[in-house]
Amino acid sequence: MNNKVILVSIDGMRPDGLTACGHPFVKELREKSSYSMNASSMVPSITLPCHLSMFYGVTPQRHGVTTNTFTPFVRPLNGICEQLSAIGKKCAAFYNWEPMRHVWNSDCMKYSSYIEAYEEENSDLLLTEQLLALMQSRKPDFLYCYLVETDSKGGHDHGWMSEEYIKQLYNAVDCAQKIYRAMPSEYSLIITADHGGHDRTHGDTCPEDMTIPMFFLGNAFEPGRKLENISLLDLAPTIASLTGAACVREWEGRSLT
Ligand SMILES: [Zn+2]
Repeated sequence: MNNKVILVSIDGMRPDGLTACGHPFVKELREKSSYSMNASSMVPSITLPCHLSMFYGVTPQRHGVTTNTFTPFVRPLNGICEQLSAIGKKCAAFYNWEPMRHVWNSDCMKYSSYIEAYEEENSDLLLTEQLLALMQSRKPDFLYCYLVETDSKGGHDHGWMSEEYIKQLYNAVDCAQKIYRAMPSEYSLIITADHGGHDRTHGDTCPEDMTIPMFFLGNAFEPGRKLENISLLDLAPTIASLTGAACVREWEGRSLT
């Protein structure tokens, strides 16, 4: 396939939080996407290890990063951005948590924007607006949108499933809806979380931390189809399949197309 892809990662989004937030786009997502409300995070269920697994297609045990402090891989391998760049595809990233820049090699990121979440009232929305502008002007092949505020300003500051968490999640879903509404037909949209959370933390193996929702929208995906036994490891192979990039032998997941 020669599709373009937008990947939206809503940090700390729990499936039951998504249902509880009451945003009308959640119902539309279930109807129009292939999806799972019980996809699997990684162990440990921590932001940087999980995102490295998303982008590099291997477990934290294999890439070796098990905290939010990046360390170079003992056995380097290519991730999805490296594979896209290798065939001349253009990647763009929008993020509001600084260590996120470790999930791609800087050589293969054509455009990027970082906003410090606590310096803005609604950095998720600012990033979304930047993404929409670049999508319209440059039409990159892969757009990555990382939204931290559900995790930081919701879960960690007030508790998972707290009123403020639900409010932040509603806002992130609103951002995802704006992207979906503006998305040209050559794009597929993937919406995922990295992990869930409980109390004011995450990183354990409990279901609240490990269970995440994932949605796949676009021509390649059957509307309303429930996907079984999927995990963060399936994202890199799926994005490769959609865009025509080659999979990497070490990748442990499978394409969902
Ligand atoms: Zn967190």
